[in-house]
Amino acid sequence: MNQEYYNRLYAKAKKAIGDHTPLKADCGQLCGGACCKGDENTGMLLFPFEETTLERKSAGDRTLAVCNGYCNRDERPLSCMIFPFFPCIDENGEITARPDLRGMPVCPMLSHREEISFDTVFLRRVARVGRILSRDKESRQMIEEISREISDYEKMQKLFGK
Ligand code: SF4
Ligand code: SF4
Repeated sequence: MNQEYYNRLYAKAKKAIGDHTPLKADCGQLCGGACCKGDENTGMLLFPFEETTLERKSAGDRTLAVCNGYCNRDERPLSCMIFPFFPCIDENGEITARPDLRGMPVCPMLSHREEISFDTVFLRRVARVGRILSRDKESRQMIEEISREISDYEKMQKLFGK
């Protein structure tokens, strides 16, 4: 697959999210935009071959986009658009938007997720992103890996509580 293929894939995924956000209101007002207070040591995961105008940083076999808290919103990474959810694939191959518990240290909504009415359209769109990306082998592999990681976090939470 060439870069043009991936650019089209991510353009389609980003279009699926559009302007939808986790809440109908601006959740950044709740936390002062905590997930956008990045520095050179943190970053947002890039999907395989996802392009960005931001600085890139390696994290094991993954690549992060590093921002200083500002970006062109229209060009932000897909991970920023779907946060704090992730399109998880279960053992039956079904894809649903699940809270991305890896983000708990950052996002206060994750700790209070049982009490929050998230925008169901946004959740459906996150799942749609998963279905779009899962048609690509490399992206599906990453989604499967991260789904397992999130599942591990869920199990830990059940064991040790919030
Ligand atoms: S940290 Fe969570 S609540 Fe705050 S802006 Fe990001 S997604 Fe919204
Ligand atoms: S790239 Fe943009 S949306 Fe993503 S964390 Fe940085 S400032 Fe926020």
